[in-house]
Amino acid sequence: MIPLPQAGGCICGDIRFVLRDDPVTVYACHCTDCQTETGSTCLIAVIVRRSKVDFTGATPESCGVTLPDGREKSGLRCPRCRGPAGGDSRGAGLMMLEGGTFDDTSWLEPAGHIWTRSAQPWVRIPEDALCFAEQPSGEEFVSLARAWKERAS
Ligand SMILES: [Zn+2]
Ligand SMILES: [Zn+2]
Repeated sequence: MIPLPQAGGCICGDIRFVLRDDPVTVYACHCTDCQTETGSTCLIAVIVRRSKVDFTGATPESCGVTLPDGREKSGLRCPRCRGPAGGDSRGAGLMMLEGGTFDDTSWLEPAGHIWTRSAQPWVRIPEDALCFAEQPSGEEFVSLARAWKERAS
C-alpha cells in the first residue's frame, strides 16, 4: 500500500483531488496517442476506484474528440489551464488519474508497461517489468493489477 491519502491536482491549482485508497494498478503507456497528448515519452496511468477519489475546486470538464482516424478519445480537463484531470477507464467504477498530477510522485514506479512496441528506444524499461507490446486484454489488465499489489505489499 502507498501512504494514504494522496492529493494532487492540475498545474493551475483550480482542480484538486484526494485519493483515499490504494490504486488498482499503475502502468506506463507508451502508445503514440499518449506521446502526442502528453508531449512526453509515456503516460503514467494510475487506475483507481472512482468512488475513492474526491475532487474539490473547479469541476473537471469532460472533453471528447474524434481523432483523424475516426477513433474517439475522451478525458477530463481543467476548465482554466486545460491541464489533464483524469479520464475514463475501461472497467466499471474505475477511472484513470495521470501520475504526474499527484503532489507526491515518489511512489509512482509502474507495475508494468504497455504499448512497448512504440516506446522510445532510449527509454529504459526494467528487464523484469511486466510488458505488453500493444493494448493488454482484460486478462492481461488483471495481471497488471496483480503485479501492482505484489509490488506494493
Ligand atoms: Zn487547472
Ligand atoms: Zn497510451
